[in-house]
Amino acid sequence: SAGLSVDGLTKIYPDGTLAVDDISFSIDAGDFCVIIGPSGCGKSTTLHSLVGNVPPTKGTVTLDGRDITDAPTYRRDIGLVFQDFQLFPHLTVEENIRYGLERMDVSAAEADDHVASMAEMMQLEGMLDRDPAELSAGQQQRVALARSLVLEPKLLLLDEPLGDMDYKLQKRMERELLRLHRELETTFVYVTHDQTQAMRLADQMVVMNDGQIEHSGPVREVYNRP
Ligand code: ADP
Ligand code: ADP
Repeated sequence: SAGLSVDGLTKIYPDGTLAVDDISFSIDAGDFCVIIGPSGCGKSTTLHSLVGNVPPTKGTVTLDGRDITDAPTYRRDIGLVFQDFQLFPHLTVEENIRYGLERMDVSAAEADDHVASMAEMMQLEGMLDRDPAELSAGQQQRVALARSLVLEPKLLLLDEPLGDMDYKLQKRMERELLRLHRELETTFVYVTHDQTQAMRLADQMVVMNDGQIEHSGPVREVYNRP
């Protein structure tokens, strides 16, 4: 039961919109899974259901065998990175990265070590005293990744994290993400509507349309279909 398992997930919003219609899929621990599909097909709803931001109408989500849909304590095992970064504007880069550690049972000295090694991994060493607004989009996204990954989540959820970047920066950030994914033992679930990006990144794909899954499986299988 290692990894993520979604069983019969359904989301009907209060206005009656059926956004996700009884979907099931599983992701092996350590895989890079991409959820792809057109705008409005239910990708974000699915992703945010995985962390309890959107309470599912029906269905279960388990991480390493534990139900995570309504168990806030387990959310510490899950990191989230958004298209618009959502950094804390009133905190420096260092304070942003340190933020989650302050809320855990970690000594100040340990926190210093974790922040320093994460800053090195993300090539943010020269920027720790700056405000997020002073950084480029790519740098801000690296801070957002550092802020999540410093907590060593089992699962990292990425919602169109490169959406607003120009093509060159996107390609560079893709290489960063693939490198990070190789170095860490974290399961990545990455949402995009961009098929070429999905093919460059994914081990495993979930192809959604109109609230349902059209195909899912290893990337080669999904794209070698007749
Ligand atoms: P995607 O991420 O693929 O663009 P979403 O999960 O955002 O898809 O949306 C799926 C469907 O649910 C769409 O029809 C969208 O308009 C609808 N939806 C999303 N959020 C809400 C909400 N808070 N209330 C009502 N409908 C919503
Ligand atoms: P994305 O494209 O990233 O899925 P959207 O622009 O569709 O995001 O949605 C932005 C926000 O608006 C989200 O919080 C989503 O839940 C909400 N939303 C989307 N569609 C609807 C809808 N039909 N009714 C109410 N809220 C919605």
